Amino acid sequence: MLTLTNTQSGKKESFKSLKPNNVAMYVCGITPYDRAHIGHGRCYVTFDVLYRVLQFLGYKVTYCRNFTDIDDKLINKARERFNDFSRYPEIAQENIDTYHNEMRALNCLSPDYEPRVTDNISEIITFIQELIDHGYAYAVEGDVYFSIASFDKYGALSGHDVANLRAGERVDVRTNKKDPLDFALWKSEKEKTFWDSPWGWGRPGWHIECSVLAKKYLGTQIDIHGGGLDLVFPHHENEQAQSWALHQVPFVNYWVHNGFVRLDKEKMSKSLGNIISLENLFKDIDPMIVRFYFLNHHYRAPLDFADQELQSLTKAYKKLCNLFVGVSSEDETVNVATLQKHAITQKILSHILDDLNTQGLLGVIFEYATQIAHDNELKKVIKAFVQQVLGLTLQPIKEQQVALSNRAKQLIVQREQARKDKNWALADDLRDELQAMGVEVQDKKTT
Ligand SMILES: [Zn+2]
Repeated sequence: MLTLTNTQSGKKESFKSLKPNNVAMYVCGITPYDRAHIGHGRCYVTFDVLYRVLQFLGYKVTYCRNFTDIDDKLINKARERFNDFSRYPEIAQENIDTYHNEMRALNCLSPDYEPRVTDNISEIITFIQELIDHGYAYAVEGDVYFSIASFDKYGALSGHDVANLRAGERVDVRTNKKDPLDFALWKSEKEKTFWDSPWGWGRPGWHIECSVLAKKYLGTQIDIHGGGLDLVFPHHENEQAQSWALHQVPFVNYWVHNGFVRLDKEKMSKSLGNIISLENLFKDIDPMIVRFYFLNHHYRAPLDFADQELQSLTKAYKKLCNLFVGVSSEDETVNVATLQKHAITQKILSHILDDLNTQGLLGVIFEYATQIAHDNELKKVIKAFVQQVLGLTLQPIKEQQVALSNRAKQLIVQREQARKDKNWALADDLRDELQAMGVEVQDKKTT
C-alpha cells in the first residue's frame, strides 16, 4: 500500500483512490514569463515519479498540469521587451517550448492534459458567475472577489487562522474589497483589453484558473493535487475554497507538496535573485544527473543546492549505470508481484511505497550492488524498475563540468552584500561576472 504525506492532515496517509483503479492528479504548472528554474525541475520530477509509481501500481492515471499564460509578470515582460503588452503570447510560447524540451531532457512523461488559461476563459467566467450566484463571490467596479467569510473551511489546508490572517493583513491598494482577505477572481481593465465578461473587460485572477481546469479535465473531486511547498498558501488554500464552496464536496483527497530548493540556506526564488535556470544548469550538467540528484533527496525535505554533492552524485550515477551495463531490460515490465520475489527488490518496493522514499531506495541498490552484480535476473528487474519507475535512463552521460562553482556562489553572496550596502557599481560588476558564468541574477525591488 502506497503512503503519501498529506499537507492537509500533516500526516502520512495510506493512498486510496476515489474511483477504483483510477487516479486524477493535478499539478500547478509554470507561469511562462521566464525560463523554468531548478525549483520547477524538482517539482515536476517529483510528480513525474508519483505519476510513474501510480502507473506501476496498476492505476490508470489522468494527469493535468496547466500553463498560467496570462499574468502581470508576462504582461510586464512583453512591455519591457517589445514596448507592447499585447505581445505577451510570444513570450509565453518561447518559454513553453524551452520548458517542454527541458521536461523531455529530465525524462518527465508528458501529462495527459496541459491546458492553457487563455484557451479556457469562457469556462473561467462561468465558474466565477456560479460563485457569485451562490453567494461566495461579489462583483465591485468590474472586479470580482471571493468572499472569505462565506466559506467556513478557509485555512483548513494551510492551518492559518482567519482572524490572525486578517489582523496581519496590510491595507491593499485595491480598496474596493469588503474584507482585506478576499482575493480576486476577475481583475478589471480600464481599457477594452483582454476579455469581455459580465463584469466588463478584464482578465482572470491566478487561483481561479486551477479550480476551473481541474474541474474541466478531472472532475469536481480529485485524488491528488501537487505543487511546490510555496503554493500551499495562498494559492492552494484559495483553489480549495473556490472548488469546495461551489461543489459542496472536498476538492482534493491528498495534497502533496515538494520542498524548496535552497542556495546558501535561502529559498531559491525570483524575488531573492538567486535563481539557477534549467537552461543554464543543463549547459554544465547532464539532465539525468540532475534527476538523480533530486531523487537522492526526499521530495519533502529542503534541498540545499551544492556542487560538491553534484560531483559525488555524478560518480555515483556512473556506478549505477555500470552496474547494469550489458543487461537488457527492454522486454521487462515490472509490477508489484515481480518486486516481491526477492528480498532486495522487496526492500526497494517498501521504500518507494513509503511516501516515495527514492533516497532510501537508491541506498538499497548501492548497499547490495555486489550481490545484484552477480545475479542476472535480479539485475534485469532492478534495471527495469529504475528506468520505468524512477525514470533514470541509465544511458552513458556526457562528461561535463559541475554547474555552479563555489566561485559563483561566493559572487552571489558578495553581490547581496553590495546591494545591501547600496554599492550599485560593484553589484553590477558582480552581476556581469555571474552572467558570464551563465548564472542569471534578478533583483527584487528595494524599498
Ligand atoms: Zn494552481
